[in-house]
Amino acid sequence: MSDAASRSAPLLAGPLPPGSTLGILGGGQLGRMLALAAARLGFDVVILDPEENSPAGRVAARQIVAAYDDRWALKRLAEACDVITYEFENVPADTVAELTALGAVVSPGAKALAAAQDRVIEKSFLAEIGVPTVAFAAVKDADSLAAAVARIGAPSLLKTRREGYDGKGQAWIQRATDAEAAFETIGRQAAILEAPADFGRELSVIAARGRDGEIACYPLSDNHHEGGVLKRTVAPAKVTPATRDQAETIVIKILTALDYVGVIGVELFELAGGKLLVNEFAPRVHNTGHWTQDGCEVDQFEQHIRAVAGWPLGPTQPHAHVEMTNLLGADIEAWKKLAGEPETRLHLYGKGEARPGRKMGHVNRLRPLKD
Ligand code: AMP
Repeated sequence: MSDAASRSAPLLAGPLPPGSTLGILGGGQLGRMLALAAARLGFDVVILDPEENSPAGRVAARQIVAAYDDRWALKRLAEACDVITYEFENVPADTVAELTALGAVVSPGAKALAAAQDRVIEKSFLAEIGVPTVAFAAVKDADSLAAAVARIGAPSLLKTRREGYDGKGQAWIQRATDAEAAFETIGRQAAILEAPADFGRELSVIAARGRDGEIACYPLSDNHHEGGVLKRTVAPAKVTPATRDQAETIVIKILTALDYVGVIGVELFELAGGKLLVNEFAPRVHNTGHWTQDGCEVDQFEQHIRAVAGWPLGPTQPHAHVEMTNLLGADIEAWKKLAGEPETRLHLYGKGEARPGRKMGHVNRLRPLKD
């Protein structure tokens, strides 16, 4: 664990009153939707992002345009904000350490960030707290790769330890003899070798933990990927009470062990017999939780703001069945047709160029809960 994780972090004195200022590291769509939720609760938001005119910066009170390791910018952010959060898990650990040293309250904390940034630390942490995952082994060079393949077997999946997302930085090893080629494909970086999960469905659970330790879970989501990228989420997922209990037990263990404050997204594999394995978790609001914007009493964005601001958590009950579809790249061109569909709620991120695969927005299609 990094120094930042072991150093005792500053705490909030009590719930932040409206009019307080909230900082967000990262100016993408998640930051934008967090900023909108924060504004609705009466907070001012300051975004830190290196790019001018970021999607979040354009709806916030202010954006500081600077690199995440710009010490002067971090000082300005720490001075301006009563609490600071982040919208992506690859915030440099040193950024959080620096903000904490400046007396800022950063939530979720450094421990959650350290675990989520490194797949070996993440899976080791999950194993330590008794949360099931696929079998795995750490890989740092050709020798440890050979040892890992001997232990885990093939087929198996080689992933970079850090910075992989949306299926990037991954290569399947179908036979032991493919191992070297797979290592080459991922750029010979420090990696993790994972046993294949023979899953029937990919589910996720979004939950929040408040500053007083209160936990609230949303109903599970059923997620569908295309080319490694989330395309569609259906929620509440059709699951047995036992599956729901398993998911809630898992997320409660993670939140408690991390002494977590904020919303978390936990990605799950559902095996044939109903057992759940954790694939990974994201210490932030999550794409598979976007359905809550139109399907739940309090959505994941407001919930996150409530948690980090020290407010009571809101109710997570669903009031509609939602199918969330990401608008990737040119999908955005259908905005006019989508805006005309009465059961469709359109959420657009204000991004300029619709590059292939770029997340430009999403739609939530609603139907009554009882269907
Ligand atoms: P990740 O970047 O870890 O979220 O992985 C991206 C996608 O790859 C997941 O959503 C799964 O569809 C698939 N995947 C990841 N890990 C495994 C695994 N151990 N076994 C089978 N499929 C996997």
